[in-house]
Amino acid sequence: MTILPREQSDNVDQRLRELCLARMPGTQITNTINSEMGLDWTLQAYWGRVRRLELPWNRTEKAGQPHPSTEYLPENKRATCREDPAYEGRNGILDRVICRECFAILRDGAMHGKRGHLWTIHKKMSLETYWRRNPGVRIFTFERIARQAHIDLDKYVAKEVANYGTPDELKAAQKNPRYEEDNGITQYVICRVERCGFKSICRLAKHLDNAHGMSTKEYRRDRSWPIMTAEELDNKAKFGRSLYANRKRLAWRPDNWGDQPASWRLIATELLSREDHMPNAELITRLMSSRTLISLERYGQSAQEIGNNQAFKKLVNDVRKWIRRPGRRGR
Ligand SMILES: [Zn+2]
Ligand SMILES: [Zn+2]
Repeated sequence: MTILPREQSDNVDQRLRELCLARMPGTQITNTINSEMGLDWTLQAYWGRVRRLELPWNRTEKAGQPHPSTEYLPENKRATCREDPAYEGRNGILDRVICRECFAILRDGAMHGKRGHLWTIHKKMSLETYWRRNPGVRIFTFERIARQAHIDLDKYVAKEVANYGTPDELKAAQKNPRYEEDNGITQYVICRVERCGFKSICRLAKHLDNAHGMSTKEYRRDRSWPIMTAEELDNKAKFGRSLYANRKRLAWRPDNWGDQPASWRLIATELLSREDHMPNAELITRLMSSRTLISLERYGQSAQEIGNNQAFKKLVNDVRKWIRRPGRRGR
């Protein structure tokens, strides 16, 4: 523990007084003051001070108990929120995400990880399970992704909102296999999976696989839902041959495709979606923002951390070799 000059020491006491009286839990106080004042003190160090100053000390909430100050979405908004993966965007919630299991309103980064909401409140639920149960929902805020990917926040939100049909649109489309046709929609096809409504501008297959772990065959079982946009169908008729060749190139997969783990296939799909070389940084941004079922948390919390992680680099290299798309050095 660093010994502080008198004035700075008084500042710490002052801040402690404020935060303790605001009933902030101990670990949060530790993190807050450490980052504000550039210190590396332990929780015990602060606790000692708090006792000396005779301040009320708030114990950090136990795992599994929601923190008493957690905010929840009001009851009358929950049904709509549950049905709409784009709820945050549609309602201008840019610095929070909403848990679709309990409707807690969470700060960025509070959802996953070993101390995260899913782990502590929802019995160690994995991201994979969470996304299977709640297709397409966000775990990072719009603000964080826009900042990290250096994209314009407003445009990003607008695009994400436009990517999902409203719950009403979804219901109408589920009932009517010709919904797109009847409404003059030619540029996208709606994913009719319950609570999804993703508007896909290309064939649904990739989205179905990534977001729902579902094949088109399974999707169309008992139903005649479309999987291609009208534009695509039209083009297919017009330029059948060249488009077919192009699609065949994009659809190329190694022979042992099905033998590799899902994470390999997801990374490979992203890498193969571009004709030229895709740098790791772009791959990570795509994986983070596409909310696929691959969990990156074991490699790090930020794009940079993940990018520098040896295990992650090795995984991507192995996948690159497998699909014959070597990294920069191997070319
Ligand atoms: Zn929850
Ligand atoms: Zn979907």
